[in-house]
Amino acid sequence: LRRNPGEAEFHQAVREVFTSLGPVLAKHPQYVDSGVLERMCEPERQIIFRVPWVDDASRVQINRGFRVEFNSALGPFKGGLRFHPSVYLGIVKFLGFEQVFKNSLTGMPLGGGKGGSDFDPRGRSEGEVMRFCQSFMTELYRHIGEYTDVPAGDTGVGGREIGYLFGQYKRITNRYESGVLTGKGISWGGSLVRTEATGYGTVLFAERMLARIGRGFEDQRVSVSGSGNVALHAIEKAQQLGARVLTFSDSSGYVVDEAGVDLALLREVKEVRRERVAAYVERRPGARLITEGSVWDVPVDVALPCATQNELTARDAQRLVTSGVTAVAEGANMPTTPEAVALLREAGVLFAPGKAANAGGVATSALEMQQNASRDSWSFEYTEERLASVMADIHDRCVDVAEEYGAPGDYVAGANIAGFIRVADAMLALGVV
Ligand code: NDP
Repeated sequence: LRRNPGEAEFHQAVREVFTSLGPVLAKHPQYVDSGVLERMCEPERQIIFRVPWVDDASRVQINRGFRVEFNSALGPFKGGLRFHPSVYLGIVKFLGFEQVFKNSLTGMPLGGGKGGSDFDPRGRSEGEVMRFCQSFMTELYRHIGEYTDVPAGDTGVGGREIGYLFGQYKRITNRYESGVLTGKGISWGGSLVRTEATGYGTVLFAERMLARIGRGFEDQRVSVSGSGNVALHAIEKAQQLGARVLTFSDSSGYVVDEAGVDLALLREVKEVRRERVAAYVERRPGARLITEGSVWDVPVDVALPCATQNELTARDAQRLVTSGVTAVAEGANMPTTPEAVALLREAGVLFAPGKAANAGGVATSALEMQQNASRDSWSFEYTEERLASVMADIHDRCVDVAEEYGAPGDYVAGANIAGFIRVADAMLALGVV
């Protein structure tokens, strides 16, 4: 704590992982003796830089850019970029730390890192977003590369931003290095299913978790928070599996649509018009916009938090338990507070932590890197099959490892321990570096 003052989210993420590790450290003292734990908490490299750009009114704007290269024991640093006004070092470090274990869980050769900026894309013109991305990449380009560090999207960074970032990287380096970024457009090196992967993967993970108690998504009432990339695709996959999705949200409030969310309309509002959720309600009879309480007040069987960190609190967890929720699967990173996680687990609710349940995005990024390296492009069906098999493997590894370390059915322990062991073993093998 003293080394990293004021980084509350980073402290929370470290505590969440380390509290699961007792049984592993008791069995394998070499992880303690070799300083692996301390090394895991210290990023290999942290880059903070100025991002100057000119807005449409010809004013100079200054933002702060970050790239935290956390751990490359398993492969090149890999993790998204977040553009949101709340971004500061503590957020980037929490996300980077989580990413190390998530990437390890996929079983793929990926290290962990994360980056972003306190830039707020909301309300900015196309030209402003492009100039910001170009300025951001003008510094970032010297730190990244196919074999060193491979960024992708996250909150506020979608296909449009990745396009501008890749364009500037190509221009500065004079290299068409497809493998330097993932989340690219399909016509210029992207992979089918990458856009859908995080939301789809979360639902596929939850489906496998529910199957263990003889349930499925058919006719289940489902709540989703957020209405960005992860939320939209979680809604899509849950509906494909027969669920009735009742909610979505943004920072202006949440919408309840008892008839089931009209995904085509929501896409029009969010992806085409880039409007607030109120615009959905204006066009959808029966849907309600609610600006008090939280989306978790709606009674459901399955809850999928897909917006942001610490959005599902102890109060929300209590509401969900009281209304009989069966499962909670995290599409977002660390959306459930530690108190809420404890409450859900004590109540016997199936709980899938983000580092396992939302790993489909980064896994499909690794598939994009494979396609880039072999100059190939795979079909949607084949790529989705690969995603489904990665999610099934992650699920089963969590279950097996939890069982092995004396916590049967505990996905938090399973994910943390399985993710930790693979990274720790690689770090031991590589020596003190
Ligand atoms: P987007 O920017 O596409 O969407 C984020 C959504 O969450 C928006 O609808 C946003 O609304 C909403 N939101 C943000 N803050 C709040 C809040 N305080 N209350 C209610 N809604 C809020 O991001 P993504 O969908 O890509 O990412 C969502 C989460 O998933 C993040 O935690 C991210 O780290 C995680 N994730 C994303 C992956 C990916 O592949 N994209 C991979 C793995 C994890 P508003 O517009 O009003 O801010």
